[in-house]
Amino acid sequence: MFRVPPNLPIRRPLLLLLVAAAAAIAILQLQPPGQQLLALALLLILLLVLLRQDRQQQQLRASAQALSQRDPLTGLPNRPHFLQEIDRAAERARSSRRPFAVLFVDIDQFRSLNDTYGHATGDRALIAVAERLRHTVRLGDGLARYGDDEFAVLMDLSGIGDGEELLRAHAHQFASRLVAQFRPALDLGDTSLDVGVSVGVSVMRPEATDAASILRQLDGAIRQAKAQRHERVAVFDLTASGDASLDDYQLFSDLKEAMRQGALTMAFQPLVRGDGQWWSLEALARWQHPTRGFVPPDRFIAVAERYRLMGELGDQIFSLSLQGFQAIRQALRLPGLRLSANISPSQLSDPELHQRLAAMLAEAGVPPQLITLEITEVSILERNTATEANLEQFRRQGYRLALDDFGTGYSSLSLLSTLRPDEIKIDKSFVMALGSDAMAEQIVAVISSMARHMDLQLVAEGVEDAATLGALQQLGIPLFQGYHFQRPLLPEALIAAAA
Ligand code: C2E
Ligand code: MG
Ligand code: MG
Repeated sequence: MFRVPPNLPIRRPLLLLLVAAAAAIAILQLQPPGQQLLALALLLILLLVLLRQDRQQQQLRASAQALSQRDPLTGLPNRPHFLQEIDRAAERARSSRRPFAVLFVDIDQFRSLNDTYGHATGDRALIAVAERLRHTVRLGDGLARYGDDEFAVLMDLSGIGDGEELLRAHAHQFASRLVAQFRPALDLGDTSLDVGVSVGVSVMRPEATDAASILRQLDGAIRQAKAQRHERVAVFDLTASGDASLDDYQLFSDLKEAMRQGALTMAFQPLVRGDGQWWSLEALARWQHPTRGFVPPDRFIAVAERYRLMGELGDQIFSLSLQGFQAIRQALRLPGLRLSANISPSQLSDPELHQRLAAMLAEAGVPPQLITLEITEVSILERNTATEANLEQFRRQGYRLALDDFGTGYSSLSLLSTLRPDEIKIDKSFVMALGSDAMAEQIVAVISSMARHMDLQLVAEGVEDAATLGALQQLGIPLFQGYHFQRPLLPEALIAAAA
């Protein structure tokens, strides 16, 4: 736990006075008395000078300490100071049952704001955000700059009542007010900027634990707030997701370790034509956890996204995918075979993604024309400059783009026109319902006819049996992926199965 060493000022003024008194007594022994007066006067002057110096030094020390606790850009208390405050509040909560809440305020899309307008404007925006927060946060509630684009508020909830629901409702209401404060654009003098914030809230009860677990809870809350597109406020629910969030955190540390040890592997599953010929191989990440066993990729990828590990994980996955792909393509002598790689939302909004992929392709000797990037709708819902720049580069460099899991999200036509994909993958939930659900059949038929009219390649995922394949072919679908043809396999196993 974070703890401030108790400040024990040495009582220098008192010491000086004692020494002076002793000197005065000694002087009083002097002869003749005229000298006594002179010596006493000199002693008094010396004492005054020393006391003054001492006060100045103390002032200097105090202002140095105050400065070390401030963020120089916004003038707000900084992260170390805030952590101390949380510690004190937790102590108070324990000793005098005073509940409190911690709020994390995170600026939406700050990175792309910085990229688009430059760091000087980014700094001015941060100052303006701090100013607006200062006006909303009650005097007495601590406001701090917590990270690059993160602010934190420590909210005293004593006097609100006892019920947890009441405390949560109160903190939630305040968080919504904070979010609403950012509806009007920020005025930066020569320009104005639309800046939104998300707020994660964690209400601490008297039995609150240490700062580290409070911060972990907040981390969960802020990610939740970011994931909710409309409300932008999430209250961390101790009862519902407390354990889940700690479990996520554990998984995140294990995943980092697995990446360090090179424990992740890639399985490959073919996308095939009606005659069984392979058209592309989809690379699917696999992780065998030392104690938990197989962890499904959607689970660990969600954790990597939440803990900002996806950039690094995505690079490792892409590089492993290229290795496996090359091995299979060469062993089976299939020079025209393609590779389909999944790209997650945070990867796509990383401004340097296209450069890194290009470098890895060049190193592996694979032309981008052989790569299909599978993107889900979530990645393009929030249009931002980095995502759009990546997509533009991908099109220019000759990659194919596929819209994955089509039908499960918004499936809106405007998203289609943003992504302008070459390929659509119908989600397996529809495919697997064919034969038992008339609605699913209609949906697949509509998607199929739309794809034909828009000249898009269409792939059906989750084809598990011959009957489903027959139904899909009836609907005119040309490409398939599923256990009926091949399960995802590691390269050696896939080579052996195909040989
Ligand atoms: P996805 O991209 O839609 O991948 C297709 C999923 O369907 C895979 O699940 C595959 O194993 C499964 N599948 C294929 N054929 C059948 C079938 O006939 N029946 C059934 N029931 N399932 C079938 P998997 O490997 O568990 O991956 C799940 C999701 O995790 C993927 O969905 C993708 O969103 C994500 N994912 C997996 N690997 C990666 C990766 O390397 N990077 C990223 N960003 N996401 C990945
Ligand atoms: Mg996919
Ligand atoms: Mg899919």
